[in-house]
Amino acid sequence: MEKVVLCEACQKNAMDVVEDTDEPKQPYQLCQPCHKRLLNNSLRPIEWYNLAVLHSPKQFLLHDDFYGEDGQAFQSEDDVIVTKEDKAPTLQDVRQDLASLINFSITRWFLEDDVIDALKQHDQQRTLDSVQSRFDETTQHIEVKSRMLEIVADVLGTSAAGWVRELVNQADEEFLYPLSWAAASSLPEDEGLQHVIEKLKSISEKELPTAAFICLYRFHSNKVLNWMEVTCTHFHVHWGRLAALSCPTWDRMKTWLDKGRPISLIALETMTHCAKGNRPVLVEQCSPKILHTDKSEVENTLNDYLQKDGVPRVKTNVSTILNNKEDIFE
Ligand SMILES: [Zn+2]
Repeated sequence: MEKVVLCEACQKNAMDVVEDTDEPKQPYQLCQPCHKRLLNNSLRPIEWYNLAVLHSPKQFLLHDDFYGEDGQAFQSEDDVIVTKEDKAPTLQDVRQDLASLINFSITRWFLEDDVIDALKQHDQQRTLDSVQSRFDETTQHIEVKSRMLEIVADVLGTSAAGWVRELVNQADEEFLYPLSWAAASSLPEDEGLQHVIEKLKSISEKELPTAAFICLYRFHSNKVLNWMEVTCTHFHVHWGRLAALSCPTWDRMKTWLDKGRPISLIALETMTHCAKGNRPVLVEQCSPKILHTDKSEVENTLNDYLQKDGVPRVKTNVSTILNNKEDIFE
């Protein structure tokens, strides 16, 4: 007898419609009623959830213009009647069961602390086996695979070193960001950095500051600063952000100011990012400082630089830095 393929959304009726997604390898496979509801933005929460597990919530027709995190339809023309059994599971419902919890993690826009903590309660080896088999076998989907790598980065760390080493050695450009985070958490610092820096060589000069920030900030390594010294050809605010998160010292800042542009402007941006308030959440969470500072030198050093390069950006930076000395230097 032929095996009946079930609709991915309701998981009750037989599948009889294939609808394209943004992921060519993985179309939606649905029954007629679920297909109609998908196109009308009126899936029931559990149907949205079942699809998000397979296709990620970032997929067109599932994303957050149309549905909330609990699968509630926002934009539907018809009222979506939700009975108890149509509800999507909550974290509380799934946290004890590893496979269900990994499913749940895929349906979130971001891998947040509550899900990370729940995953950390499970046996690391089992979690690694489970994440690895989904990545290798179960899914073709780039977003879903990326989430597996985020779990490696945020939950598994060094226990996943063997697998991460295999992955970084197969040059897979489509996973540059999450694989860089996994490398930062799982591999020894020098090994991880070397791989990521090698991969960044294929990024264009224009895109490099942003890509480098995303790929390297999680290393929190002053070796990133050595690399920046030979790499930065233009000022970009992301260079300052990256340097602020890479354990900068006062001696390094003085050297950069002496070298002149563009690295001197990056030094000022680095120090400015160590001032509280008005900075991106990622930087704020790390509360970076300029380390090992001889505080008696700060004011003169910055004013000397201002004499040489007194453009408005420098004036603003120097005044921000001097007004926030207590936050910035230690
Ligand atoms: Zn269905």
